[in-house]
Amino acid sequence: MDKWIVHKFGGSSVADAGCFRRVAEIIEASDRPREAVVLSACKGVTDALLALVLLAERPDGDFMSAIEALKARHVSLAAELVSPAAAAIYGARLDQDCRDIAGMLQAVRLIRSAPLSMRDVISGYGEIWSTRLFAPYLSERGRLAGAVQWIDARDVVIVEWGPLGPAVQWSTSEANLEALVPAGFTGRLVITGFIATKTNGTQTTLGRNGSDFSGSIFGALLHAQEIVIWTDVDGVLSADPRLVPNAQVIDQLSYSEAMELAYFGAKVIHPQTMEPAVARDIPIYIRNTFAPQKDGTLICAAPVSALKVKGITSIDPVALVNLEGAGMIGVPGTAHRLFGALRDAGISVILISQGSSEHSICFAIPEAQAGRAEAAVRRAFDAELRDGQIQRVDVGLGQSILAVVGDGMAGAHGVAAKVFNSLGDAAISVRAIAQGASERNISVVVDGKGAAKALRAVHAAFYLSPNTLSIGLIGPGTVGRVFLAQLATQVERLRALNLDLRIRGIAGSKRMLLSEDSIDLERWPELMERHGEPLDLEKFANHCQADYIPHTVLIDCTASNDVANRYQTWLTRGIHVVTPNKKANSGPMPYYKALQEAGRATGSHYLYEATVGAGLPVIQTLRDLRETGDDITRIEGIFSGTLAYLFNVFDGSEAFSAIVRAAKLKGYTEPDPRDDLSGMDVARKLIILGREMGLTLEMSDVVVTGLVPPALAGVSIDEFMERLAEFDADMSAMLKDAARSHQVLRYVGRIEADGKATVGLTRLDARHAFANIALTDNVVRFATRRYCNNPLIVQGPGAGPEVTAGGVFADLLRLSAYLGAHL
Ligand code: ADP
Ligand code: ASP
Ligand code: MG
Repeated sequence: MDKWIVHKFGGSSVADAGCFRRVAEIIEASDRPREAVVLSACKGVTDALLALVLLAERPDGDFMSAIEALKARHVSLAAELVSPAAAAIYGARLDQDCRDIAGMLQAVRLIRSAPLSMRDVISGYGEIWSTRLFAPYLSERGRLAGAVQWIDARDVVIVEWGPLGPAVQWSTSEANLEALVPAGFTGRLVITGFIATKTNGTQTTLGRNGSDFSGSIFGALLHAQEIVIWTDVDGVLSADPRLVPNAQVIDQLSYSEAMELAYFGAKVIHPQTMEPAVARDIPIYIRNTFAPQKDGTLICAAPVSALKVKGITSIDPVALVNLEGAGMIGVPGTAHRLFGALRDAGISVILISQGSSEHSICFAIPEAQAGRAEAAVRRAFDAELRDGQIQRVDVGLGQSILAVVGDGMAGAHGVAAKVFNSLGDAAISVRAIAQGASERNISVVVDGKGAAKALRAVHAAFYLSPNTLSIGLIGPGTVGRVFLAQLATQVERLRALNLDLRIRGIAGSKRMLLSEDSIDLERWPELMERHGEPLDLEKFANHCQADYIPHTVLIDCTASNDVANRYQTWLTRGIHVVTPNKKANSGPMPYYKALQEAGRATGSHYLYEATVGAGLPVIQTLRDLRETGDDITRIEGIFSGTLAYLFNVFDGSEAFSAIVRAAKLKGYTEPDPRDDLSGMDVARKLIILGREMGLTLEMSDVVVTGLVPPALAGVSIDEFMERLAEFDADMSAMLKDAARSHQVLRYVGRIEADGKATVGLTRLDARHAFANIALTDNVVRFATRRYCNNPLIVQGPGAGPEVTAGGVFADLLRLSAYLGAHL
């Protein structure tokens, strides 16, 4: 006979009619001769039923309309899913159930408080309603051979509640099932999750999320080949995805690991799910109803997985109770008395930690039980507290337990160190620690307010490459856009080298796009259009500096002062800055100095290679020279691609104004060509180099001779373009004059070691290096003590989006290397 497969679908998998359809399709695709389908209540229904009881307990609670709402939701589901005849039968039963519920709640209204048994009965209706609908739906679809039989789990599963939760009475339950399902049955059983019957015959539940337990109980009763728990995530994740956005699916887990994770808060599985499966060695799969093509997580006896740490979970709120006193040292039985007192008070202890001196015992309990626990402890040690043998009983509220779980931690070195280092780096203080002798779990108690941060920090230490950078790009204009395109082509290759570059924010001049994961670099303009929000640079920086990603870098591709003025704050906060924007470095000297200082304390880096010569290695060359002990005597060169171009072309065959006009049309100049001709851009670059040489320089120290005739300084762009021709004669005369002495005109910037800085049009010998450059080339000549006879020259295209973006990208990789990436 074929073995059974048991599927369990959680509430999120049966939220609406579309979900029911999906569930049916999964069962139809599976198409094995014998399958059992355990269903939860439709999403939110159990909560709503429990809320009914609370409403009835309040004198003014309107439970009738809440019942009506629940009824209406199920009626409309039936109308969508099954034939009118089946819907009528369904509706009639639902109606009767709702009348029964109303009757019970009326009684509650009178006695003002609902007995536990009634709560159990009422909260169990959701599973009855979902399965009673799914059974006829699956059968009416008619795509599978064999019968569809509805099973009320209360007729099968018998449990006895004990201190460890519900204990299944296996032999009775097995007999009950055999009585209901004939031995040779083929087809599908549709079974209610969550509900069961106590040995005394009254109805009970298996606790919140108990349908998982139902699934594995039926797996055991049916001697199933496997149990599949279908939910709304891709499997058991390395952490709760609502707290850790980049949690990953764990491929395989042992039963004990899964149990430990479930117990310590991984809500995706009920902790008791494992027991029946372990006893019969039945594998459990956790899979996604909404992505059935994915493998999910396999939970079994002997998992094959390379991960040492499987998951990181948290439970809160808990209270931490600390019992302290010299009188406990060496006295046998103190722990016995303590935990005996707690047991008598019905308090469940989640974690215990005792220092080896026996001077103190500390334990964690659910926060709601803190008051009772403190009273119980004080009562138990009343005499010792009075005579001072025990000095104090402290209760810390609002704590959170963080548990790191994995079988592979046993015997592995450095796992605990990684946990504590990451917590230390995130400035989280640890209140208590516990590690089981199995070494499967390291638990720490931290302040609840920092719990999410702690979880992310520890998760990052185990699951993220230490070289993961959260990147925010500001200014996706000419350069920024190209940078993103360049990055897109390299991201995968770099990830293979363990460098994980994630663009998590893009800020334009008015709007910004934020994303928890990496923004799709192929589609960012469209995403910005659809999901962009108004620009707020403060929010942008906060978002990019996510506490669960090891490093943050903001890349400023604007020419904005406003953005440049924020670098200091960012660097001080530990955010790295990369930029081709000259504004900050050529602004007032004190700000420049502050920036150089700002990152020192936090270790953040400020990189700006592309501010001079775009992608050419100018700043880096200068740094290398200085840091290896060379002395710079002079730096001179052609620092403007635009001016280089104008004078390369200006050979007398065409008027200067015509060349400027043509260059403007080709986009070689700024929209207002005076921004280039004024020489101010060259002066800014010179300042940056001068400061890099160690000089204290302000813009006013640079002697700039511009090419904008004073008469045209204040006119409109159009008028400027028109009237520039008035000065063509002067320019031609200068050119001819130079040519007579075999010289050419070049716009040169020069800075000397003594701080003398000049920018202006210069006559150079026709054989001079600066006279023989191509198009928009920049050329920078370093005269130093080492390079004195023959200077060091860096030359090449020094403008344009491709090379500038390349310079920014190179800075980003340099930064990654500083942070530890091996490229
Ligand atoms: P169902 O309705 O299928 O029973 P639950 O809501 O009970 O689903 O459980 C699934 C949810 O558990 C997920 O949506 C996820 O938000 C949460 N969850 C918490 N911790 C984890 C974890 N470690 N792995 C996966 N999911 C988790
Ligand atoms: N419906 C129950 C609950 O919400 C059981 C379950 O879904 O597992 O807790
Ligand atoms: Mg659940």
